[in-house]
Amino acid sequence: MRSLARTKRPLLPTIPPSTLTRTPKWNSTTTPTTNQPNSASTPTYTPLHSILIANRGEIALRVTRTASAQGIRTTTLYTDPDAHSQHALSSPFALNLGSTDQYLNGARIITLAKEHNCQAIHPGYGFLSENAGFAKACEAEGVKFIGPPWKAIEAMGDKARSKEIMGKAGVPCIPGYHGGNQDPAFLAQQAESIGYPVLLKAVKGGGGKGMRIVRDASEFDQRLDSAKSEARSSFGDEVMLVEKYILTPRHIEVQIFADAHGNCLALGERDCSIQRRHQKILEESPAPNLAEEIRQDLWEKARQAALAVGYQGAGTVEFIFDNETGQFFFMEMNTRLQVEHPVTEMVTGLDLVAWQFLVAEGKPLPLTQAEVEQRIKDRGHAIEARIYAEDPSRDFAPSTGTLLHLRTPTTSETVRIDAGFVQGDEVSAHYDPMIAKLIVSAPSREQTLRKMVQVLEEYEVVGPVTNIEFLKRVCGSPAFGRGEVETGFIRKFEGELFGRGEVAGEVWVQGAIGLWEAEQRGHSGGDVSGSGGTQQILGFGGSGAIPQAREFRLVEVISDPLAASPTPTIVKLVKTGPSTFEVSVGREDGEGEGEGEGESYTVTSSWNPSTNTLRSFFPGTRLDTTIILTPPSPSSPNSSQLTLSLFHHGALYTLSPLPPRWASKALFGGSHEDPTHSVVTPMPCKILRVEVPVGDVVKRGQVLVVVESMKMEMVLRAPGRGCG
Ligand code: ADP
Ligand code: ADP
Ligand code: MG
Repeated sequence: MRSLARTKRPLLPTIPPSTLTRTPKWNSTTTPTTNQPNSASTPTYTPLHSILIANRGEIALRVTRTASAQGIRTTTLYTDPDAHSQHALSSPFALNLGSTDQYLNGARIITLAKEHNCQAIHPGYGFLSENAGFAKACEAEGVKFIGPPWKAIEAMGDKARSKEIMGKAGVPCIPGYHGGNQDPAFLAQQAESIGYPVLLKAVKGGGGKGMRIVRDASEFDQRLDSAKSEARSSFGDEVMLVEKYILTPRHIEVQIFADAHGNCLALGERDCSIQRRHQKILEESPAPNLAEEIRQDLWEKARQAALAVGYQGAGTVEFIFDNETGQFFFMEMNTRLQVEHPVTEMVTGLDLVAWQFLVAEGKPLPLTQAEVEQRIKDRGHAIEARIYAEDPSRDFAPSTGTLLHLRTPTTSETVRIDAGFVQGDEVSAHYDPMIAKLIVSAPSREQTLRKMVQVLEEYEVVGPVTNIEFLKRVCGSPAFGRGEVETGFIRKFEGELFGRGEVAGEVWVQGAIGLWEAEQRGHSGGDVSGSGGTQQILGFGGSGAIPQAREFRLVEVISDPLAASPTPTIVKLVKTGPSTFEVSVGREDGEGEGEGEGESYTVTSSWNPSTNTLRSFFPGTRLDTTIILTPPSPSSPNSSQLTLSLFHHGALYTLSPLPPRWASKALFGGSHEDPTHSVVTPMPCKILRVEVPVGDVVKRGQVLVVVESMKMEMVLRAPGRGCG
């Protein structure tokens, strides 16, 4: 499982000083005139002809793409839940590993590679990619590990040890304690002398786990315990470091590439400051509002960091940049290809997987630092949005389910999608909930952001809840547009980023006509209104004669458990011609017996079943709305009721029909729509802690239960006052 994926082995002794002082032959100041390798002896190259990909999802597909283009045979692996996934289906050879955790079974993977004549293993990211023991075992078994030497992985695999090495190599590190004394009182003393706030970090940590901010001495012990407990369960190790917590930091990282001939290049930087729970969701290059001399300094320090550990292949040196002082500090090095590497590929025009193959074959890097810089200058800007099955309004809790509808923007030179899923696939709780990465580029940052919003508007997903609407808001926000980024961005602008707009009258109309159309087509057994066949039919229904009339009671589906229950909207349709409706839209009043002031329209509509699009001509405008109906499914926690997903002018609205007021009163005693009396977990999960005893009276918002799903802890709160 994921939690083991980044487990790192014990470290070797410190890297010998000779390696620390090794300088690159090619750097920004010494540009070679030819692209010949720098090693003295004539190097021998081992061409790659077959590789095994020890990963899944989009990264497995990504590696396959470059390998196939180069005529390198690929073998992929899959587990039982992944048997029909894209990565397993699209490679010529695919081997079954069985249970879900087997992507981490290094010994078995190496045996399979040998059995199937795979020369090399590409580990992708996550899983075994930063496991020095695995890289070492590959070497011992004569299988090439496509990644850095295992010693470099080991040196960088421990956040404390790597900082020690960096300090010696002249790379600035955040003030803090990285030593072996783990006595809580001693650590608290260190925190005191560093000065609050401090950050506790698991030295073996990754993926934003095992970290806690401590604001003052009074909460130190409790935060230390909780950081340790998360680190133990995620990495099997609870050693902590303490460092200064920077209040308004940016996350800026440098993509580096090194070969076996002493060359090390910086392929530009990426700003990854837009994060939730210390994990990235938007990444861009170049970093906005960054002075050129700082940029150059970052690149230089990143290369020093890589050279200090004898690095080869693709790696990322992560820095934290203090917005207040303009200083930057080494944070960690990721010794692998990174999720966000396409951003760099877009701004450099390079294929980083192809470069990984090149280095694995023993060849020198084909460009100089000056040539790389020129490419970056010429090509402009790129940004990546990670599309996750997660619900921003529930604190970004992961979501699961079948991708019932998936429509993606058209890709081109400047719009790229790296995805591991297609329509019909299941986003399961076993693995990472990332559905896709959407990467766009344009000559300027401003154009790039505009384009990102536009393509996000074309991205349609029905099934699991996604962060697409949220990403649109971030990319369209004025502060982001000005490049005022920091890791606390989402919290700082939460009012603007999480607010919900009113659903316009036309949306309700399109929803109601969509339901009407679905009924005519016999969808959902002829009655989709949630009324169990008791919906009142006005006019002359049944004979096919016109006019007919129909009343729908609709609500917007809101997943935020603390939001007030929405007031139903009443849409009355009267069919006055083969495709013409007289429509009125109004709110149900407080008592729910009638409706308030409404709007009326004459609408001409036509339904296109091949695209699921409803085209309606309103008095002043034409609207095309994609409408996807999801029948209630007892197995899916997200859809206990019939839902309508409407993609309308680039936004998604989720509506649900309610039974007529009289029917819901009769069936549920009036409490059916009142969510304040029940707590439902958003997905299958494991209960970690129950925070309230039986019989207690709880307040609205009080923590009830802590659950874990997809390696993420989540808190369920009381939606209202009550007792249990
Ligand atoms: P990157 O550092 O490449 O930008 P992430 O930090 O999100 O991206 O992590 C890279 C990959 O490693 C992702 O697939 C992520 O799910 C996985 N990963 C990160 N941390 C862990 C962890 N603690 N255990 C397992 N997998 C992890
Ligand atoms: P991981 O291995 O989980 O990626 P990192 O050390 O890279 O851990 O930190 C992850 C994120 O946590 C950073 O991108 C940044 O947002 C935040 N962070 C890390 N160190 C600090 C610090 N000293 N002060 C403030 N924020 C920090
Ligand atoms: Mg990191």
